[in-house]
Amino acid sequence: MFIATLWLCIQFSYTPVPSARYDLRIIPLVLGGLYVGIGPILVLAIILLRSFYGLNIGFFQTLILYAPLSIILWNLYPWISKQAPERRIFVTVCMGMILGLLTVFGMSFTNSHSNLFDAWFAFLVIPALGIGIISYGIEFVRKNNEMQQQLIKAEKLKAVEQMGAAISHEIRNPLTAASGFVQLLQDDYLSRQKRKEYLSIVKEELISAERVIQDYLTFAKPSLETLEELNVKSELRQIINILQPLANQNSVEIITDFSVIGFIKGDKQKFRQCFVNVLKNAIESMSTGGYLTISTEFSQSYVTIMVKDTGVGMTSEQLERLGEPFYSTKGKKGTGLGMMVVYSIIRAMDGSIWVESEVEKGTTFLVEFPTITSIIKTQQAGRA
Ligand code: ADP
Ligand code: MG
Repeated sequence: MFIATLWLCIQFSYTPVPSARYDLRIIPLVLGGLYVGIGPILVLAIILLRSFYGLNIGFFQTLILYAPLSIILWNLYPWISKQAPERRIFVTVCMGMILGLLTVFGMSFTNSHSNLFDAWFAFLVIPALGIGIISYGIEFVRKNNEMQQQLIKAEKLKAVEQMGAAISHEIRNPLTAASGFVQLLQDDYLSRQKRKEYLSIVKEELISAERVIQDYLTFAKPSLETLEELNVKSELRQIINILQPLANQNSVEIITDFSVIGFIKGDKQKFRQCFVNVLKNAIESMSTGGYLTISTEFSQSYVTIMVKDTGVGMTSEQLERLGEPFYSTKGKKGTGLGMMVVYSIIRAMDGSIWVESEVEKGTTFLVEFPTITSIIKTQQAGRA
């Protein structure tokens, strides 16, 4: 790009006398040399390009001026890239002025008859101005980018920090409780009944710590490992089987309405984890019984999964905070990681999710995944 710019500068120049070319080549040369570090290449390009426009006195001037310049630019580049932006602008502008000055000096020796006011103006003001404007622009963009990067990094660090703090807190609680009961268990004169009771508490606490870790891991690793074709219908059936006992406990009736076909691409394990979380929440929201409706629909482009419960529902504030890490209204029973995992898995599978909820009426989750079309075709062909 720089070489092309150089050529454009030399091609579209102002030529008061045949041997002199007034042009803007200093601008790309200085900027390329000091910002990109390709000074020697550009100097070589200038010399070559200039030779096509006649091997006259102007060409030799170019040669004498620019050959040492390439060395200067080459040595200046490492230094200048370490300087503060303001100094960088200042040095590039000065460099442009010095080059302009030298060029005019060279000219005044050879073509004494040419209009030197033109030359002074052309070489002192215009390149310096051009370089100033462009280098200011470069610095501005650089600074903006840097700030953005720093912001992203800070955000990430903050998230990791928060997660770490919250996780250790969440895990420490059950572990402290468990170790307390283990201490009680060390008493030799404990009755059989008490011993059993304590052991079951220890077990429960350990399971709850494990649940936090499990949920966190799914969040921390949202990338899909094994992509395969998933039959939505049979996957959902298996998940319902897993959750049936929980539904029975809460006297929840599960109603299903599945479309005949529907294939999506994704990781089986993650898909299960995602819908186990959604369905578990739905069942948990109906502690005194209700209906859980799970239906799927399929079109050429999307497979839609709808999960509808008749549970406690959510207020608009709760709805807004849904998916926030450790946001739970279930106290000790919840981890507040389930929905976060759901969101990250759906995102990783190129899906979308919508939630509608009304307090005391229930909640509806709508999840949409892209259909795999090749499979539909073979299925339809098989059917026909
Ligand atoms: P947890 O289930 O451990 O509390 P989740 O991330 O799975 O954490 O859910 C976060 C919160 O979102 C729940 O505590 C609950 O208040 C709310 N929630 C999620 N799904 C439903 C639902 N189907 N009906 C009502 N509230 C829900
Ligand atoms: Mg949950």
